[in-house]
Amino acid sequence: MLIKLKDIPEEGLHLRYKEKPELLSVSEYVKKDVEVDAHIIKNADAIFIDGSIEAELTMECSRCLKFFTNTINPNFSVNYLPVLEGSDEEELELNKANMEIGFYKGDAFELDDLIKEQIILSIPMQPLCITSCKGICQVCGQNLNIKECNCEQENINPKFAALKNLLKK
Ligand SMILES: [Zn+2]
Ligand SMILES: [Zn+2]
Repeated sequence: MLIKLKDIPEEGLHLRYKEKPELLSVSEYVKKDVEVDAHIIKNADAIFIDGSIEAELTMECSRCLKFFTNTINPNFSVNYLPVLEGSDEEELELNKANMEIGFYKGDAFELDDLIKEQIILSIPMQPLCITSCKGICQVCGQNLNIKECNCEQENINPKFAALKNLLKK
């Protein structure tokens, strides 16, 4: 949703709406509408946004490769400052990384960018269906959460193999 600065009243703007994941370019991870609840306050050129989103993530478990869903509900509070003529882009990026600061150009800003960022930040590097997921057998491919298999589980890690040999002596 594009927010025009002139549309933000003195008392601020309260938005509650649902956004299609396709519009946020996160449809790979989100299959249902994302719920957005945001307060937008304008103070001269600065814009302050706080609120929360709720989204259901669909992820592939990094151990057993099963797809699972997890609902996230991150809160955010961000200051948006105008990009001034002649601003150093590199410096802006630095500021952005260190603080909860965003920048907008012209007379409007895209709230979707903030929502998309919140979703991306919530996706774990190595998603797990459950923290104790046993994964799949390297030999026969059995999902070990469902059933144990009878494969000879040779330790693949060479360090352990070396230790095992030492203990045999
Ligand atoms: Zn799993
Ligand atoms: Zn097996």
